[in-house]
Amino acid sequence: MIQGIAASNGIAIAKAYMLTAPDLSFSKNNAENPNLEVERLEKALEVSKQELEKIKAHTKKEIGDEHAEIFSAHLLVLSDPELINPMKEKINTENATAEAALDETANMFIEMFKNMDNEYMRERAADIHDVTKRVLAHLLGVTFPDPALIDEEVIVIANDLTPSDTAQLNRQFVKGFATDIGGRTSHSAIMARSLEIPAVVGTKQVTKDIQKDDMIIVDGIEGNVIVKPSDEQLAAYKEKQEAFAKQKEEWAKLKDEPTIASDGEQVELGANIGTPQDVEGVLDNGGEAIGLYRTEFLYMGKNELPTEEEQYDAYKSVLEQMGKKPVVVRTLDIGGDKELNYLDLPEELNPFLGFRAIRFCLENTDVFRTQLRALLRASVHGNLKIMFPMIATLEEFRQAKAILLDEKDNLKQEGVKVSDQIEVGIMVEIPSTAVTAKQFAKEVDFFSIGTNDLIQYTMAADRMNERVSYLYQPYHPAILNLVSNVIEAAHAENKWVGMCGEMAGDPIAIPILLGLGLDEFSMSATSILPARTQIRELSKEKMASYKDKLLSMATAEEVMEFVKEKTE
Ligand code: PEP
Ligand code: MG
Repeated sequence: MIQGIAASNGIAIAKAYMLTAPDLSFSKNNAENPNLEVERLEKALEVSKQELEKIKAHTKKEIGDEHAEIFSAHLLVLSDPELINPMKEKINTENATAEAALDETANMFIEMFKNMDNEYMRERAADIHDVTKRVLAHLLGVTFPDPALIDEEVIVIANDLTPSDTAQLNRQFVKGFATDIGGRTSHSAIMARSLEIPAVVGTKQVTKDIQKDDMIIVDGIEGNVIVKPSDEQLAAYKEKQEAFAKQKEEWAKLKDEPTIASDGEQVELGANIGTPQDVEGVLDNGGEAIGLYRTEFLYMGKNELPTEEEQYDAYKSVLEQMGKKPVVVRTLDIGGDKELNYLDLPEELNPFLGFRAIRFCLENTDVFRTQLRALLRASVHGNLKIMFPMIATLEEFRQAKAILLDEKDNLKQEGVKVSDQIEVGIMVEIPSTAVTAKQFAKEVDFFSIGTNDLIQYTMAADRMNERVSYLYQPYHPAILNLVSNVIEAAHAENKWVGMCGEMAGDPIAIPILLGLGLDEFSMSATSILPARTQIRELSKEKMASYKDKLLSMATAEEVMEFVKEKTE
């Protein structure tokens, strides 16, 4: 049994699909028969084209035209004589093997395009890089994994899954996944929860211990992966799978009920989403709001920025699906573990502390304004609230809000209708902001506490790094004091406070947060019904009476023990 971190609830049983980078190294010997090498090259190009056609068709059907365009660009590269002819020439004149000719020619073009002062050409460098890896894999006879092409039930095994890998996974066939790295709040884990597939992350060793087609059980409840289970194990886990399905049926009874604690106090349970497709799962799971729409996914998995129209369509779709229910849309939070290759931003030593989110948007105001215009235009289709990420200073908020108001004026002048009811708030995920919440509360309409980052910045412990995960302590009194400070500051100004970090759906944190006065809890859709079940059993007043005691405790351990004892 391999132990990891339980990232998404449920039990999955299927064979392993290795989503691992193949070894593409080759020796640089001279070729003996140039004709044969040219033939090998042509064959590898042809097979790669056929594969790309399939992936393109699949992406078009599952994700949309825009995303499929990347593969059209890749196909063009494979048919470009300006690239292919020099490869053949290298084989014929220098006795190069097909592998060496492909690799050297492609690298020459990549270097040339990469350094050009033209974004279009820089994107071509990325295309050439991607496709040549595929062709090289065919020449070497190794498999190049394509998550989009999975067409049988599997469990995906990977070192890590990038958000765009995760977005490509086909829910129908991918029954679960397990990774070497990552934590509960890494984006692959968050995506797994919104896709509602069981997942275990941070195992350190699944890619080493598991082989293609091995039978696997992923226990996303306990955080275990079982490789080649015995018959007894299989039977036991099938039973567990059924019990989980029954439990889900029980939870589902509360789908249309409000979230009211045993003493009559009501709170709101919202969901975090990444795409308009996620809304269906939110409504199925009884979500009362979208507490966080992470718009980054609109910008990822493609080669260029999304247009205003594309964004407008996505925002409108989410707002319409939610009807009167609130939808908090977060403006672009790029950076950290969410990269956009096409922006070509310089590499940073500490990306989580670097040029990201609102910092990027305030400098690239054209990108920011496009998003704000799309949001403002969509605002008439529902109950929109706009939230800025990674706010560290009041000036940043003022600047961002001024740009928003400016775009609103522009639209009005153009005769475009914009709602006048849009609340504008911020994520509280940087300690400076949590500490000075009182000052912010006078100017913002609401706060949403982003504990995923707030914890990492407060404890100085990277949320992606398992070696310091012992320091990633949501129940640490430092975190509870910051959270309490934010809630008090907001309530003093009659503003509401939500939490959209993973802590909001954590069964140990929920009683504490209820007692501290949190108004809105936003979590993975699948956590909503268990949370509602739990809150209905809790008294807010009773939990509030423990507030001072909890805030003055010395360790996270003490907090945890206390809460367990009081809520049993
Ligand atoms: C957070 O930091 O708590 C948060 C919700 O944002 P993200 O996980 O996208 O960084
Ligand atoms: Mg964050």
